[in-house]
Amino acid sequence: MTATTDFRDTPLAPIRPASGDYSQHRIVPARYPARTVGTIVAALLIAATLNSILGNERWGWNVFAEWFLSEPVLMGLGRTLLLTLLGALFGFTLGTALALARVSGSPLLSGLSWTFTWIFRSIPLIVLLLILNNLGYLYETITIGVPYTSINFFSYQTTQLISPFTAALLGLSINQAAFTSEIIRGGILSVDQGQLEAAASLGLPRSRQASRIILPQAMRSIVPPAFNDIIGLAKGTSNVYILALPELFYTIQVIYRRNLEVIPLLMVATIWYLIILSVLSAVQYFIERHYARGALRNPPPPVLRAILEWLGQFRFVPQPTPSTTPVTAPRFVGSARSAIEPRGISAGERAAAGGTVAIHNVSKSFGPLKVLDRLSLTIPAGSVTAILGQSGSGKSTLLRSINHLERVDQGFIAIDGELIGYRQEGGLLYELKEKDILKRRVDVGMVFQNFNLFPHLTVLDNITEAPVTVRGVPHTEAEAQARDLLARVGLSEKADAYPRQLSGGQQQRVAIARALAMRPKVLLFDEPTSALDPELVNEVLDVIKELARSGVTLIIVTHEIGFAREVADTVVFMDQGEIIEQGPPSVVLGAPNHPRTREFLAKVL
Ligand code: ADP
Ligand code: MG
Repeated sequence: MTATTDFRDTPLAPIRPASGDYSQHRIVPARYPARTVGTIVAALLIAATLNSILGNERWGWNVFAEWFLSEPVLMGLGRTLLLTLLGALFGFTLGTALALARVSGSPLLSGLSWTFTWIFRSIPLIVLLLILNNLGYLYETITIGVPYTSINFFSYQTTQLISPFTAALLGLSINQAAFTSEIIRGGILSVDQGQLEAAASLGLPRSRQASRIILPQAMRSIVPPAFNDIIGLAKGTSNVYILALPELFYTIQVIYRRNLEVIPLLMVATIWYLIILSVLSAVQYFIERHYARGALRNPPPPVLRAILEWLGQFRFVPQPTPSTTPVTAPRFVGSARSAIEPRGISAGERAAAGGTVAIHNVSKSFGPLKVLDRLSLTIPAGSVTAILGQSGSGKSTLLRSINHLERVDQGFIAIDGELIGYRQEGGLLYELKEKDILKRRVDVGMVFQNFNLFPHLTVLDNITEAPVTVRGVPHTEAEAQARDLLARVGLSEKADAYPRQLSGGQQQRVAIARALAMRPKVLLFDEPTSALDPELVNEVLDVIKELARSGVTLIIVTHEIGFAREVADTVVFMDQGEIIEQGPPSVVLGAPNHPRTREFLAKVL
């Protein structure tokens, strides 16, 4: 039997799913009816609320208009803003110092910080404000000098020094610092320990480690709760009315006691607080974006572009570009028999049968950079395919597209005739919703270069998590299966260890066991040994060799040429988003046709 497949001979219709050509189909975007109903209900509620507020005379909007921008209100607003700004500034400075003291090695500093937080989180803000305002009764003068001598640098009447404004600012700052210190400490704890170790091993001084490495990364988890706190502070400034300090709320009270227009004036205060909070929320958004740099593989687009894209989607429905040119024929020059027939394995073990992967005319760009360029490839069930190529040639992007971690711009990928990301009905392709994509993804396992084990779960829990929660396997069964898999990868005794307690090779073998536990039809390996020490490489390759005989379809991006020669049925060579050569290892690795392949092999061999 000849295994040569030539797409040029394949008519485009009727549909032949295995060929992966769905370009004649119309794409129907995913619809979310519940979301649409929710939107309509929300719009109706908003309209009803607005109608009741604007249509009822008792709200007194004319009185509101009279006072909203009046001088006393603006003066009060100014004080509120000043208190918020200074309170946040002092609170955060003191809070950061307290948090660093708390995580420092010094028990005294740490204890002091703990006590401060304990006391000032316990005292109600109003009580604290009143105590500070009455400090003049406790201490008539405040003096700085050398104790038990008559040397004084500075001495002042307490009542002169602590005006209501100072008392308010002190109280708010201290209260803020006590809460903020815990938020910042939480952020510090969330930073990976490896980061500390890397910073320390580079010899960075402690202060630099904190300011340059730890705090910026901690900011991602600090910013949202911190802004909650600042918003609390902006509203909390209204507590200082008990010190008769004419900030916004106190001013409003003075006015409505005089003119008895309570509701309109409370509305003046409400709207101003709303404006302050909106501005704070906007500031938070931009600070969060700033600290998200590098944290996401695909960061969200800038606000303006996101809005334009959102508006744009109502104007046109994206159509797949029909393939006008004949498809480059993926050829399996060698015998496909060896690929399809799992070698040396009993029928029973073949339970997790492999899937056929059909990649048809797939393109993908990141901005102006075309990473996959009309790439087509058919991978038979149960075969082993090694993908080689220079760094940056698009190998990872191809694997990530097969797993739908990356969405292709054009073309289609199907596993056993089931399209990735779409459901086919007649001539229509319905875009899948996120939860359906997740369901389909369980057929495709992926092993990453840097393992990506869950560091806070034991080895056993890493493996059983998905079978139990996704596949609904009973816990005991999942655990027995996990122990079997661990035995297969030679790690029986590590079931209760945490990933960070394992060597790289062991972690990668756990990652393989974790992927296998889902009984995938296709298993993707993205440079599974590149992060490993040379002596650990073989222990992982041996496990993969074992798998090659199990019937699962394996697609492996690797730089291990010897391994590819031994294990792969097909070697695919990629260059600049295209497949420039493919065939059995003896041909592609032994007698390559393309100069680029020869050049690459000369470098790595
Ligand atoms: P390979 O795995 O072959 O080394 P990749 O598929 O990872 O290559 O990347 C191909 C190209 O795409 C590289 O130039 C890379 O910088 C770029 N790239 C990959 N992912 C992204 C992304 N999310 N955003 C922008 N560029 C990307
Ligand atoms: Mg890569």
